[in-house]
Amino acid sequence: MSEKVRIRGDIQSMDAYTPTTSLDVFAQRLGLNVDDLIKLDANENPFGPSPRVVEALASLPNMQVYPDPESGRLRELLAAYTGAPAAQILCGAGADELIEIILQLFIEPGDVIIDTPPTFAMYSFNAPLYHARVVNVYRNADFSLDVPAIEAAVERHRAKLVFLCSPNNPSGNLIEPAQIERLLELPATLVVDEAYIEFADADSLAPRVGDIPNLIVLRTMSKWAGLAGLRIGYGIFPPQLMSHLRKIKQPYNVNLAADIAAQASLEDIDTLMLRVRQLVEQRRRLEVAFAELPFLAPYPSQSNFVLNRVHGMGASELRDQLAREGIIVRYYDKPRLRDHIRISAGKPEQVDRLLEVLREVWRE
Ligand SMILES: *Cc1c(COP(=O)(O)O)cnc(C)c1O
Repeated sequence: MSEKVRIRGDIQSMDAYTPTTSLDVFAQRLGLNVDDLIKLDANENPFGPSPRVVEALASLPNMQVYPDPESGRLRELLAAYTGAPAAQILCGAGADELIEIILQLFIEPGDVIIDTPPTFAMYSFNAPLYHARVVNVYRNADFSLDVPAIEAAVERHRAKLVFLCSPNNPSGNLIEPAQIERLLELPATLVVDEAYIEFADADSLAPRVGDIPNLIVLRTMSKWAGLAGLRIGYGIFPPQLMSHLRKIKQPYNVNLAADIAAQASLEDIDTLMLRVRQLVEQRRRLEVAFAELPFLAPYPSQSNFVLNRVHGMGASELRDQLAREGIIVRYYDKPRLRDHIRISAGKPEQVDRLLEVLREVWRE
């Protein structure tokens, strides 16, 4: 690079994040049509958005005008949906953006955040960009939290933030409510990412944020409402943080299409929840079928995906074999996960095809 161009040294030497590949790129790489692909690698909603979203976006008004920086109407609908006050909700371009805004609000160079891998990668990926130091407290073998180790790490490093994912991506398990209660006693703020809570047999912490000063809950419309491509998520924050968050947030971070689509979704909750129940049914089907295959050991899931330990063959080889049949699943080249694959729940016919191919793989 030219000496006149002096970008940050830490970014120069940093590894790139590998996001999920687009359908077109996958199809091209595999020599298949987009319509023949079964994409089960990113926990997206195979049913797509509510039909009301498609209708609303077809006649989207006032695209030449900046969107509502407050997302006022959307926040009212989210308040009714979550049971949290609208005044404590902040919307973002996906929950991913809120992770960044939280880091910007809390972190001074060198401050520590606690991460609990194996978990969602964006906490530790974003942290160094905002000058946070990541201290990893690995989960137990069953992917439950090691609470005493988290407590010790918070004390030792005076950590400001503890990122927790429940249900956890990629393992699918919930955090025990008693563990959350215990961690809330710590001198740190808990950020509980509930991206998959709609699929779980558990209550959201959203209605509780109000009376707890050190609890933040992240939610998203990407998974249950099928809006991943439009980028719309939200956080529920203690009241004292709201005015400071507004100083940081880009005024027009939520684009008009995302705002309108999220509103239309929240006016069609019954349709979307029916699909959520169908996906949970398909996830249960996957758990049972995987347990019957001698080379897969599924972990119990409270989400729309199932993590499996793969034995008797390489997990990345299994991923490649499925890809040759147009079925895309998630493999992780990461500690504790190298012999695992994560598979999202699909439509019933997609699950049929997946199970058929897996049984063929076993016969070979
Ligand atoms: C998918 C996912 C998100 C991302 O949500 P967006 O709103 O699409 O940015 C956040 N957290 C977890 C755990 C996820 O799996």
